[in-house]
This record gives sequence, structure tokens and C-alpha cells, in this order.
Amino acid sequence: MMNSIPSTLPLSRLVTDMQESATLKMAKMARELKAQGKDVIDLSLGEPDFDTPVHIKEAAKKALDDGYTKYTPVNGLVELREAIVRKLARENDLQYTINQIVVSNGAKQSVYNLCMALLDPGDEVILPAPYWVSYYEIVKMAGGVPVIAYSSIEQDFKSSPDDIEALISDRTKFILYSSPCNPSGSVFSFEELRAMASMLQAYPHVIVVSDEIYEHINFTQNHHSMASMEGMKDRTVIINGMSKGFAMTGWRLGYTASPDWIAEACTKIQGQVTSGASSFGQKAAAVALDSDLTPTHDMVKAFHTRRDLIISLLEQIPLLLVNRPQGAFYIFPDVSAYFGRTSANGYHVSNADDMALYLLAEARVSTVSGGAFGNDKCIRLSYATSDAKLKDAAARIAQALSILN
Ligand code: PMP
Ligand code: GLU
Repeated sequence: MMNSIPSTLPLSRLVTDMQESATLKMAKMARELKAQGKDVIDLSLGEPDFDTPVHIKEAAKKALDDGYTKYTPVNGLVELREAIVRKLARENDLQYTINQIVVSNGAKQSVYNLCMALLDPGDEVILPAPYWVSYYEIVKMAGGVPVIAYSSIEQDFKSSPDDIEALISDRTKFILYSSPCNPSGSVFSFEELRAMASMLQAYPHVIVVSDEIYEHINFTQNHHSMASMEGMKDRTVIINGMSKGFAMTGWRLGYTASPDWIAEACTKIQGQVTSGASSFGQKAAAVALDSDLTPTHDMVKAFHTRRDLIISLLEQIPLLLVNRPQGAFYIFPDVSAYFGRTSANGYHVSNADDMALYLLAEARVSTVSGGAFGNDKCIRLSYATSDAKLKDAAARIAQALSILN
């Protein structure tokens, strides 16, 4: 008798236990509805609606013509790592060597490299919530245990040093957060970071991973890195990348700046998983980092105006609690006052997941449930889109919420 191949081969526990990325899932649903001819406004995916500045695209084209079509060193072209070192010195007053920089295929891969390099099964990672969706799943993927520090809209979604300290254990490996924050847009001030650093002096085994990918999209004009706080540089890893500040999401370029031993470990992981990032993309990224930032500043001005617009529109909706983000291009309103209500057409909303699905079905606006970011009272809206679309989306959301009783 012939052995037949089962129709469904067993998948790994790792993938079956994993949540699909909620941001990418909502964006996919919006795309599919649009393909069916439905008029959907997509506020789910976090990416600038601007195109990559022309001089960066020209640099990539030139790099191709110049023959930059081969593998690069795993940790990145020397030329790009030198540009990153210059950027860190010029903009952040931080001194690194090129051996402390690892260029990856997006900041998402930087997070992955770090988790794989630093975590043993059972090691804990403190995630101040709301946190970026992928942190949670990547920590789990590496065998780590995410430990959540909850914070509410009343705290501007910022965990205090006491909140974090209460969660530190012998198994804590690192704290991982983004500032400016995805999804809340909150920004840690110098004083807040200093207080966190001061608390951490009593816990020398804890590393800080500071995701600064929204560094330039900061309406306070003041970006501070944990690496600049006294006593912290040797145990801080900075994550950054080209996606947000340079409108280069599709280019897949991120990087870390860290102590040598962590950079070496991340390079080792990346060498077995993907090798170096794209050669001509790296050449263009070096040009981007060394150039005048006027295109970035123009983009940030537009985000600032849109932030004010979306706040003013959402504040008019009864029962919605609206935060005042200081950076990134997200707003994270608390929608929990609507929980327990049912729409005129019978749709019951009992949590943030229901709310995101309800708004997609009823208002044809795609958002992301806060549940995926560790806060099940809120939803995330990306306002990286035109004023006209924001006005239309807010009107549709107001209408859909008004029929929940
Ligand atoms: N960190 C944060 C906080 C993000 O919002 C994103 C957006 N995708 C990333 C990392 C990853 O960025 P990328 O992989 O595009 O560089
Ligand atoms: N970081 C963006 C977001 O949060 C892009 C999507 C993703 O990579 O998750 O929407």
C-alpha cells in the first residue's frame, strides 16, 4: 500500500501560536475591499503617504549604474555605516564606531536580530504598552516572555519608572519601547528618560532597546535617546531606519547602534538569515543621511498640520477620548465608552477588536484595534493621508458611532 501525503502537513508550533501582524492584516483587508470596488479609507497602515525624495532615488539609480549589484558585508557597506556614525554624532551627540552599527533589511529585522541574539527561553522583556505589534510576537518567536507595563490615556500612554521597576525580575533581559511611540504618538521627554535611567542604575543586568524610527517626526522638536542618559550608553541599543523619516518604507533599510558585543551577535544572526541589505539601497541611504533634511522637515510640517486637524475632528465626537500625540503619525483614541452598545443594524461592539471591524464594515474606514498594541480600550488611526480623506474618514466614523446605542 502506498503511503499517502496528508492533505494538511503539520505546521510548527511557533507559527500556529503566532498572531498575524494586525497592522498588515487590516491594511490587507482594506486593500481587498478596495479591489472589490468598495470606497474604503485606509487609516490602518503606518507609512508616510509621501514619495521618497528624488535625490535619494537618483542615488539608487546611480549606484545600480555604478555596479553596486553584489552582496555587501553582512553588517552593511562601510560607506553607509560611516554616514550613520556621522548622523549619530551630528544629530544625537553620540559617538559610535562603524563596528557598532548593523544595517538590516528594515528596523523590523533589527528587532528580530536583537531578540534572537539576546533571549534564551524564559527570558523576560518588558514592553511598556501600548507597544508596536511586532515587538510582542518577535519576543515570543525568540522564546522570550513579554511582560506588559500597562498605561492609560490619562498618563498620555507613558509608563513611569515605578511602573517599570515593579516588573523587573532576575529574568528581565531588556526593556523595549519606541519614542516617538507607535501607536500612541507619545514622546518621552528628557526628564522622563533621565528618571527611567536613574531607576535602572539599581538593575545593571537590564538592557534598554530604544526604537527611534520616528525620531524626525516629533512635534516637540526635542528628540532624546536613552543612550544619551548618564550611565546608559553601554547598555542601550538604538534602533532606527529609513522608512519613516525619509519615506522609504519599501526600501527595507534599518539599523542598530549598540555595544560591540551586541552588534557582533546581531551580525552573526543576520549572516545566517538574510545577509546584508540591498546594495544600491544602502548607497542611497548613505546619501539620504548626509543630505540636507528639508524634504523630511516639509513632510513633518504636513504631519503636524494633519495631527491638529484629526484632533479637532475627533474631539467633536461624543464619548471619544482623544489623546494629543507629540510625534509619529498616529492617534490612539479611547473608544471604550462605546463598548456594550449595538448598532441600528445589529452589530454589537464589546471591545476594540469589534470596534475596528465595525468601523471597517459600517464606516468603510480601516483602523487597527488597540488590542494588538496591548491596550484594548483604544484604536489606532494613521493620519498619514490627505486632509480631504481625514475629513471624510472622521465624518464617517462620527456617523457610525452615532448609531451605536
Ligand atoms: N519600529 C516601529 C515602532 C515601527 O512603527 C516600525 C514600522 N514598520 C518598525 C519598527 C519597522 O520599520 P521598518 O521595518 O520598515 O524599518
Ligand atoms: N510599522 C507600520 C505600522 O505599524 C507598518 C506596518 C508594519 O510593519 O507593521 O503600521
